[in-house]
Amino acid sequence: MEESAASQGEKKVVAVVGGGLVGALNACFFAKRGFQVEVFETREDIRKAKVVRGRSINLALSHRGRQALKHVGMEQKIVSKGIPMHARMIHSLSGKQSPIPYGRKGQYILSVDRANLNKELLTEADTYPNTKLNFDHKLQNWSAETGLMTFGRPDGSQTEVQADLIVGCDGAFSAVRKQFLRHSRFNYSQTYIPHGYMELTIPAQNGEFAMKPNYLHIWPRNTFMMIALPNLDKTFTCTLFMPFEEFEKITTGDEVIEFFQKYFPDAIPLIGADALKRDYFRLPAQAMVSVKCSPYHIGDKCVLMGDAAHAVVPFYGQGMNAGFEDCIVFDEIMNQFNEDFSAVLPEYTRVRVPDDHAIADLAMYNYVEMRAHVNSKWFIFRKRVDNL
Ligand code: FAD
Repeated sequence: MEESAASQGEKKVVAVVGGGLVGALNACFFAKRGFQVEVFETREDIRKAKVVRGRSINLALSHRGRQALKHVGMEQKIVSKGIPMHARMIHSLSGKQSPIPYGRKGQYILSVDRANLNKELLTEADTYPNTKLNFDHKLQNWSAETGLMTFGRPDGSQTEVQADLIVGCDGAFSAVRKQFLRHSRFNYSQTYIPHGYMELTIPAQNGEFAMKPNYLHIWPRNTFMMIALPNLDKTFTCTLFMPFEEFEKITTGDEVIEFFQKYFPDAIPLIGADALKRDYFRLPAQAMVSVKCSPYHIGDKCVLMGDAAHAVVPFYGQGMNAGFEDCIVFDEIMNQFNEDFSAVLPEYTRVRVPDDHAIADLAMYNYVEMRAHVNSKWFIFRKRVDNL
């Protein structure tokens, strides 16, 4: 069945594949320009779902990301639900805490709830009468020649949809990007790092934060690292990064405690020994991948943005922020070239690939620095790059 035909009205049909952070924001950018926007998201509507699965519970929103939110009038709404983090708080093995500020006085990044951010962006996209959100639509195939896309539905049926422009915002394992691999002169590389990550929770204590809230807490331990970002409900979400083989060595609750006793002793009473023994085994550690590719477009039909174009390892805290910035850069080029996709898409590749690749390299460099150097040296470096 063909659901909608391209170029029916005056404005072209833009299909945004992926209703995650970048896709939902991008839908607003295209809707603001008056395009007929169709978002296709493989998941159900997370605003109605009981359980929302995502890549991390919270994330750090910085200047780049805020600028993009501002463009669609969403900055204050999101900032008001974020928790400012003015500095990193370094936890030494002895339990001593030392702050390292982010840049100048008054500068900060924000801890935001991923699910809430995604929901707010979808709701904003929904307010445009020229936008339609299609959930439970998983892109299976598409044609770079015709712009015809095939989506799988939960009941096993398929739907075909035509668009003038396909915007691939379907994340690190992008189905849109798969078609690019068949094209000559498309460069692609993917690297899994040996580390995995696991999320743990520091609950509120007597209704208050168990640690100082306006910090990004970091426990640097060379091969291992744990960070904690504050949440509005006064909990902290901790993320433990370590090599998969180390995760796998720990097989019992007692071994978890032994490991924490050795490397993160001050975190045991904060997380709670029983919770730690239980939560460590709740979900397996997750992999982290870095994806680089070029070009970001095919002809005048398709363009990649966000993690679909550049998945980065999270040690620089800029994956989403860079994806949000993609939307502004594209928007500016749309102004420059009068929305002529045949000129806009190549220019977007020309301008954006070097910057996104630089962010991917910085993120990987931070990861390598973290493993290779002693704590003090690593943090001098971190201070210099002024991020996580
Ligand atoms: P995604 O968030 O992956 O969204 C892709 C969407 O596409 C999903 O909704 C998915 O369901 C949908 N989809 C997938 N396949 C299909 C298909 N075939 N058809 C239709 N829909 C499809 N970034 C920061 O800026 N700051 C941070 O502090 C930060 N912390 C992080 C911590 C961790 C542990 C990790 C793993 C990442 C972190 N990131 C951070 C990176 C950030 O999560 C990503 O850069 C961001 O989620 C990218 O958004 P996206 O919309 O491009 O992709």
